[in-house]
Amino acid sequence: MAQENLKQAEVVWKAEDVKHAGVVGGGTMGNGIAHVFAQAGIDVTLVDVDEEVLARALQTIERNLQRQVKKEVIAEADAVATLGRIRAATRLDDLAGAELVVEAVPERIELKRGIFEQLGNVCSQRTVLATNTSSISITEIASHAKRPERVIGMHFMNPVPVMRLVEVIRGLETSDETTRFTTDVCERVGKTPVEVQDYPGFVSNRILMPMVNEAVYCLMEGVAEAEAIDTVMKLGMNHPMGPLQLADLVGLDTCLLICEVLHRDLGDDKYRPCPLLRKYVAAGRLGRKSGRGFYRYDS
Ligand code: NAD
Repeated sequence: MAQENLKQAEVVWKAEDVKHAGVVGGGTMGNGIAHVFAQAGIDVTLVDVDEEVLARALQTIERNLQRQVKKEVIAEADAVATLGRIRAATRLDDLAGAELVVEAVPERIELKRGIFEQLGNVCSQRTVLATNTSSISITEIASHAKRPERVIGMHFMNPVPVMRLVEVIRGLETSDETTRFTTDVCERVGKTPVEVQDYPGFVSNRILMPMVNEAVYCLMEGVAEAEAIDTVMKLGMNHPMGPLQLADLVGLDTCLLICEVLHRDLGDDKYRPCPLLRKYVAAGRLGRKSGRGFYRYDS
């Protein structure tokens, strides 16, 4: 019997077997992840500790679906069916039947660890547990999980319904089966997975954040004004947004946090966060979410 259980545990679901997915955290990323899963025909339980957040998440999803209807990307009936597949909940216990759970709570290691520990008790031993972390080590999160071979990084980009990439990050113990399942799920929900190894910042932020940080150095040293820096990168390098505009969108506190992870974990001074970035964060200029970053936002 024990042998049989072990065999069962070794088998990971196939992507097409996923009927029920859990998303933990209904903020910026969580509501987008719930949206794309539900749109692919998967029942979703969206868990957040805050009922108001859950209500707002459902409104956001509905608004974004209506935008897709207006653009004729989906039919009205699909929008209604998609919304009907999403259930809001406040307890992790409601994820007991999920084949896949994606965690998208704030970027704090102790918070994520606690959730992975609880999910280990709530979910089946076959459930794949993914984290949407932008900078925390998958290996470290997995080290607190019951089944580290079932833990993986699924790094969606913001805004999730629009951006095609998902960085799929293998922790040290992540199994081949878990990785294959996760990349297949990405394809099933219409995304393009790219597999990377677990090193600080993965690939996306290892390359993006030094560029953002260097743009802030250019501003601090008076090389050019913010608009000029962004225009050089938009028109000269064909970037859709300038690095300072992008930093305002991501949140300057988040950018600082990722730069600190790169600096600390790679141990190289080339990743030293720019003092002006620290100053803005200390002043509460966090970008769009606070109404002011490198630019001002009226509403
Ligand atoms: P957010 O603050 O918008 O949302 C987090 C949500 O988690 C909040 O609604 C909060 O109430 C909820 N939460 C907190 N503790 C919880 C708990 N114990 N159980 C259930 N819910 C809980 O954060 P976000 O921007 O969506 O980021 C989530 C994760 O995604 C982070 O790891 C972040 O690094 C990563 N990420 C963010 C972006 C981005 O652009 N915002 C992009 C890629 C990855």
